[in-house]
Amino acid sequence: MAKEKSSIRKIAYLSTSKCNSKCVMCNIHAKKPTKDLTPKQLKKILSDPLFKNVKVIGVSGGEPSLHKNWKEIYNTLCSSLPNLKAIGLTTNCVNSRKSIDIIQYYYNQSKKRNIKLSLYISLDGVGEIHDQVRGIKGNFKSAMNVIDWLKYSKINFTCACTVSKINVLNLEELRKFCDKNKINIRYRLASKINRLYNNDSQTYHQLSKEEKKFLINFLLEEIHRQKRSLLQKITYIVNKKKMKKEKIYQHIISILKGNKRTSPCPHSLQEAICLSNNGNLMYCSVASKIIGNCLKNSAKNIYLLNLSHLRELKGEKCKDCSHDIIK
Ligand code: SF4
Repeated sequence: MAKEKSSIRKIAYLSTSKCNSKCVMCNIHAKKPTKDLTPKQLKKILSDPLFKNVKVIGVSGGEPSLHKNWKEIYNTLCSSLPNLKAIGLTTNCVNSRKSIDIIQYYYNQSKKRNIKLSLYISLDGVGEIHDQVRGIKGNFKSAMNVIDWLKYSKINFTCACTVSKINVLNLEELRKFCDKNKINIRYRLASKINRLYNNDSQTYHQLSKEEKKFLINFLLEEIHRQKRSLLQKITYIVNKKKMKKEKIYQHIISILKGNKRTSPCPHSLQEAICLSNNGNLMYCSVASKIIGNCLKNSAKNIYLLNLSHLRELKGEKCKDCSHDIIK
């Protein structure tokens, strides 16, 4: 890369396009899965200079536990990225056994390698509401099985709730449930995202004026609650995390009010990149087109030769982008 400051520090890695959910805000399950990278192919791709300074990788999908070589994929990420400090894993817990297996492996290996692990469990409502959003009967129960196991095993995790028209008016119930069960949860907006083929699906664009108002008040209350608990907590790390949450909610509120993004995103700042399950490279997962395939060309060359598209994104899409990845 031309300048050190534009080096990529983070990869959003969509490890597989296979998914066992049928979420109302995503259509990936309706598409024929494409071929996932093998560990060998991934290793070759990650040896490209574009990735030499990567410190953080977020593994998602589809559902990452459905990659047939998920263990080897984890090991390849760790061995191919010499500066890796943190790894994130998101799982939908549709199959609680598979989710527990992948979490346990990531947890044990990350501990051994001194890599920080952030776990995200999808939880979009209580009982039927969650099942309705996820399109899978029994998913609330299977998600709670995983959550109970995580609590029993004393493994830190965060639940992630994607807010759409289906669950927006049930958020109070979810908040009470999480409080009662001491579950840390964060809220994000269901948004139009190219890679999820969800142009016609349930996104925040379909929220009515009243629903948007409800959500804004709900998020403001979340910010107040965090400030209250901030006074009680004194550790720097906890506070830093909570301040980031506040920043994200302020950003979502701004978008819901029809205003612009309040913070830039690391993709637009040339600090993050999106790598898909078959080696396709995108500047971000939200609005970027596929800029090339890393099995065919060097990732660095693909990245540098398409910067005019990143400029287009910055000029046309970023200011209204609701995605909650912020700097
Ligand atoms: S559209 Fe812009 S702000 Fe949104 S994720 Fe992509 S690069 Fe970031």
